[in-house]
Amino acid sequence: SEEREVLGWEQFGEAARELAREVVRSGWVPDLVVAVARGGLVPAGAVAYALGTKAMGTLNVEFYTGVAETLPEPVVLPPLMDTSDLPGRKVLVVDDVADSGRTLALVMDLVRSKGLPGGDLDGDGTPDFSGAVDARSAVIYAKPRSVIDPDYVWRRTDRWIMFPWSSQPPVTEEF
Ligand code: 5GP
Repeated sequence: SEEREVLGWEQFGEAARELAREVVRSGWVPDLVVAVARGGLVPAGAVAYALGTKAMGTLNVEFYTGVAETLPEPVVLPPLMDTSDLPGRKVLVVDDVADSGRTLALVMDLVRSKGLPGGDLDGDGTPDFSGAVDARSAVIYAKPRSVIDPDYVWRRTDRWIMFPWSSQPPVTEEF
């Protein structure tokens, strides 16, 4: 549709608290919050504070190059977080929106694969299995076409969303 969903800063604050409440109500307490950068950075920080979780990581994934314009597939960009701590942990992956859901699907696969037997985190050529990664996902918005249904969702929409941190162009010297 042509209409857009506009999320304001104030409303974002409520969304983050509500998402955290959903997690708490489910009785599952994450050891670590992983932000999907850049869109998930601000939400992940807010949700981590609301949950009282101090440990955080970031995975940088690029997919969208404009409104509804994407690369052929989502790509993980450097710098890569240290994933050696993940096995045996409860990890909450936070992003702004699951649209096609491909970014979140990629990150969930990546995080979970770190806890699979045969996984080689240290790259020494030998498997270093030390426990499964119990990973769940949280997003502010989920769209109906998403290939994955996130565990925690604040709102559902099929519109293009304007987030408060990305709705304005980068600042220039003049302003
Ligand atoms: P996906 O892989 O689920 O299609 O989307 C990946 C990323 O693209 C999202 O985390 C988000 O940063 C960006 N994106 C997707 N849909 C929207 C949208 O409706 N509005 C904005 N601002 N970004 C979006």
